[in-house]
Amino acid sequence: MAKCRRCGREAEYRVSYAKAWFCREHFIEYFEERVVETIRKYRMIKPGDSVVVAVSGGKDSMSLLTVLVKQARELGIREVIGLHLNLGIGGFSELVESVVREYCERLGVKCHVIHLRDLLGLSISELASKARRPPCSVCGLVKRYIFTVSTMTVNASVLVTGHHLDDVVKYALKNIYVGDYRSLASLKPVSVEEGLPVKARPLISVGERDIETYAKLSGIPYVEAKCPFKHEGDAEKAVRVFISELEESNPGAKLTLLSSISKLIHEYIEPRESRGLTRCSICGMPSSSDVCSFCRLTKKVYGKYMGADVASKIGKSLNAS
Ligand code: SF4
Ligand code: ZN
Ligand code: ZN
Repeated sequence: MAKCRRCGREAEYRVSYAKAWFCREHFIEYFEERVVETIRKYRMIKPGDSVVVAVSGGKDSMSLLTVLVKQARELGIREVIGLHLNLGIGGFSELVESVVREYCERLGVKCHVIHLRDLLGLSISELASKARRPPCSVCGLVKRYIFTVSTMTVNASVLVTGHHLDDVVKYALKNIYVGDYRSLASLKPVSVEEGLPVKARPLISVGERDIETYAKLSGIPYVEAKCPFKHEGDAEKAVRVFISELEESNPGAKLTLLSSISKLIHEYIEPRESRGLTRCSICGMPSSSDVCSFCRLTKKVYGKYMGADVASKIGKSLNAS
């Protein structure tokens, strides 16, 4: 019978990369400590910060929200704020929004919900079809813009997302495979750019399976159904299978890959791919070109640049909620 590394009682949960077993109580403790250590190691949050959590309703962001609320005092966080974007995907989006709202209320966390349809008059699938692009690529762009503007609007200094170890290693290897070094450079644990909130991924050192275990053991409600547009391409699938086989035969391989990827980005990719931000001439948001990608998207779909208009609608919506 395996024993808990911390208390010696019967253990049920194994963390492969830690090569250790834990009982329920100490698995939760170990998981939260690991997230706090990651936040400190990469200086993601400093005392006095207000932190916006982009909450999608899935296990990752709901677990992240939970850890930050529980560890807010330890980390010196002034306020944790939930931010949810309703993408207008019929019953799926309605369900997700209600789960997020209820959980934030239970935690005593302020929850801002923004409806994409209120900002642009379209759902994510309608927008993607008018832009003639895959839903996930438009969704990523739109979320980045809306979350950044919202974080600035509520005067928070940090925006955190629930990307975890498996996500980051998978996307990094896929980007290396297809030679997309600019996207690779954006996969850092924390990104600090002048004029923008700090963007951080506090779950970068924990694996997806551990997050699921943490969520279940902690009684965190989350939506298990996947977004209907979730699509895994052939290269992505091959990389995921490769990583999981590697981890199976070499426990800790994912963390080793993460550390090598971070070194690669820091020493070789970032110095070449550094974007040198300027301001979008339409909406004023920091951008790597004269007109930001969000304004360019709206020009393509609506025939006019709409960044400034959308930012003002976000301001009104957040001030009213
Ligand atoms: Fe957006 Fe794609 Fe995720 Fe659905 S699966 S929420 S469309 S990024
Ligand atoms: Zn124990
Ligand atoms: Zn713009």
